[in-house]
Amino acid sequence: MSACATTYLDHAATTPLRSEVADAMAEARSIPLGNPTGSHRPAQRARRLLEESRDEVAAALGRDPGDIIFTSGGTESANLAVLGTLGAAVAGGAAAVSVVSSSVEHPAVRESCRAAVQLHGVNWCELAVDHDGVVDLDALADLIDDSTTLIAVMLANNETGVVQPLGAVIETVRAHSATARIFTDAVQAATFMDLASWTAEADLVALSAHKVGGPVGMGVLAVGPTTPLAPQHHGGGQERERRSGTQDVAGAVGLAAALRLSVSERRQAARRVAALRDRLAAGLLASVAGTHRTVAAGVAILPGHLHVCFEGIEREELLLALSERGICASGGSSCASGALEPSYVLAAMGVPDALVRGAIRFTLGHDTTEADVERALATIPGAIAALRHAH
Ligand code: PLP
Repeated sequence: MSACATTYLDHAATTPLRSEVADAMAEARSIPLGNPTGSHRPAQRARRLLEESRDEVAAALGRDPGDIIFTSGGTESANLAVLGTLGAAVAGGAAAVSVVSSSVEHPAVRESCRAAVQLHGVNWCELAVDHDGVVDLDALADLIDDSTTLIAVMLANNETGVVQPLGAVIETVRAHSATARIFTDAVQAATFMDLASWTAEADLVALSAHKVGGPVGMGVLAVGPTTPLAPQHHGGGQERERRSGTQDVAGAVGLAAALRLSVSERRQAARRVAALRDRLAAGLLASVAGTHRTVAAGVAILPGHLHVCFEGIEREELLLALSERGICASGGSSCASGALEPSYVLAAMGVPDALVRGAIRFTLGHDTTEADVERALATIPGAIAALRHAH
C-alpha cells in the first residue's frame, strides 16, 4: 500500500483484495454463471467452479471436500459452529448442554454463545487466559465434564495476534471428554499458519476470505462428518442440508485463489512480514518513551501483529492523529458504529486500565513494505509527542 499516501497497517481488520484473486473472480464471471443447482450449461459451469473451489479449500485445510460449508464470512461460520452444534445437542435430547469458550474469543463466537444461552438455555462459561492472553490448560481441564458439548478456542487472537496452543487444548479436551466437540476460529490465522496441521484434530474450523486477500462476504465452516450440526439457514438444502441459500460461486473462486496464494507464499511471507513488524516494534520502543508491548517476548504471535500500549495516550485521539497523517491502525476492538469499546481481551489479560486507554494494534500484511514501516516510524513518535504536549 505504499503507492498512495496511505500506510495501511490494519490488515487484521481487512486485507486488500489481491489482484490475482480479483482476476480469478473476473474470469469466473466473464461468462454468465448459472445457479449451481440448475441443469443447463451456465449452471453446470457454476457447479464445476464451486466444486473445484471446494476441493482447493479442503486441500488447504487438510479436510475432505464434503466437510466444507461455504458461508457469508467468519461471523456466519462462528454462529453456525456454536449455535449449530449446541442446537443439535438440544434437539437430540441431551440431558445437559454446555459450552466453554476462551475469554478472548471474537464477538462472533462470544455473542453466539450468549445467544445459545438465551435461545436454548445452555450453560456457558469462559476459560481464563494468562497475562499474555494464552488459555489456562489446568482451568480448561477443570471446566470439562460429561455435559460439555462444545469448547471454542480460537487459533489466533484478532487484537493481540496471540496463537493459542491448540494441540494441547485438544489433548486436554479429549483426555476429559469422549464427546465434547472442539471449534477453532482460524479467521486471523489463515494467512500465515499451516491450517492443515494446526487444525487437523479440531471438529469445526472457521475461515473468512477477506482476511486472506479474498472477497468480503465469503467464508467457510469446515465440519467433520461425525459432528452433528443443526442448520441455521433453512431453505433449499444447499451445502448438504447444512446451509441453505444459493452459493456465491465467484466468492468461492476468490476464496480458493486467496488460500492458494497464502499456502504457496506462507513461509516466505511470514518471515518477511515478521521482520518488518519487529523493525516497527524496535523503532517504536526506541523512539517513544512509555511504549509497552502488550504480549511478552517469546509468546507465539502472528507475524503481522504488533500490539502496543502507549502511556499517557488516549487511543481514539492517537488513531485520529495517525489517520490525519496517513497511517491506518486500529484500537483492536471497534463495534459496528466504529466507536471503540473497552477491550474485554485486554481486561481478561489483566492489562491495567491506564495502559488499555493507549492500546493500539498495528497489523502488517502481504503488501506492507519497508517504506511503509519507515514512514510509520517517521510519523508516530511526532504524533504522540504532540498529543502528550497538548495535555
Ligand atoms: N473471527 C475473528 C478472529 C475475526 O478477526 C473476525 C473479523 O474480524 C471474525 C471472526 C468475523 O469475520 P467476518 O468479518 O468475515 O465476519
